[in-house]
Amino acid sequence: MNNSTEIEGLIFNIQRDSTEDGPGIRTTVFLKGCTMHCPWCHNPEGICLSPELVWFETRCIGDGDCIKKCSREALIRTRKGVVIDRNRCTVCGECAVVCHAGALEVLGKKSKIDDVAATILRDRVFYEKSGGGVTISGGEPSLQDDFSAALMRLMRGEGIHIALDTCGGMSWDILGPLVELADLILYDIKLVDEEKHRQYTGIPLEMVLDNARKIAEINKPMWVRTPVIPGYTDSEDNIRRVARFIVSSLPSVDRYDILAFNSTCTGKYHRLGRSWELEETNPLSEKAMEKLAAAARNEGLTFVQWSGLTRSEVQSEE
Ligand code: SF4
Ligand code: SF4
Repeated sequence: MNNSTEIEGLIFNIQRDSTEDGPGIRTTVFLKGCTMHCPWCHNPEGICLSPELVWFETRCIGDGDCIKKCSREALIRTRKGVVIDRNRCTVCGECAVVCHAGALEVLGKKSKIDDVAATILRDRVFYEKSGGGVTISGGEPSLQDDFSAALMRLMRGEGIHIALDTCGGMSWDILGPLVELADLILYDIKLVDEEKHRQYTGIPLEMVLDNARKIAEINKPMWVRTPVIPGYTDSEDNIRRVARFIVSSLPSVDRYDILAFNSTCTGKYHRLGRSWELEETNPLSEKAMEKLAAAARNEGLTFVQWSGLTRSEVQSEE
């Protein structure tokens, strides 16, 4: 077995000063790899459990140093800029090293647990003042369960509040021990329709609901969240069914968040060389979000909040 300080995690971002991933000011550690493949994912760089090369159009100065460097001929100059042939690219990262403009990046860095812990602990004073802490997120953090558990134990030893952000798409044998180590679970319930859930996420709904029940059984505080995605999860019926499930089965939930869709992550898909079927989709209106929140409250939930950019706000920013 590895000495826990030798464990490395594959991380694609560490976000300090986060205020959206649990209470107070937090540092969120985003681990690579997810068990689901939701078409609306806002962190598509978190889905694949291996490093990925991305190219930033706005940073590129077009000198072609990367193309000269790549011995696999995996970079091609086109009228639209540098295109990565992902069948040839081994993600060795050499092109990113020679790119002085910082236009190429490898997402997903093997990081030592002590280095990650040191970054988190830098903001201890802010956590103490704001009631914040660390959030272990992804992707799905239970896909790197050894690293997640070791990091959580370290943080517990430091007295740091820990939130675990999970999609619930993992067997309880693996997810359960991580839940035990957390102070708060941020839990996504996206859809309460078996067929659609399996079709869109690739994971059976029953697994997600069962895990939620088990978290509630051990009385672990939970915040449940539903992303409101036009054409997928935005029906009043869906929100009502999630709310009903919380009321009937999850007594440890103390907050239900419904999160409005926006398309600000479109660039992430393009940088990964993918198009995104939702890139032209309009945000919802404030009225529509209010209506969904009211529907959830009508099911007996008193702690419903909605957030995110809505149609009028997005338009006034343009
Ligand atoms: S080295 Fe960097 S700046 Fe130069 S062409 Fe390649 S990506 Fe663009
Ligand atoms: S990461 Fe390596 S293989 Fe991929 S394009 Fe860059 S230099 Fe070529």
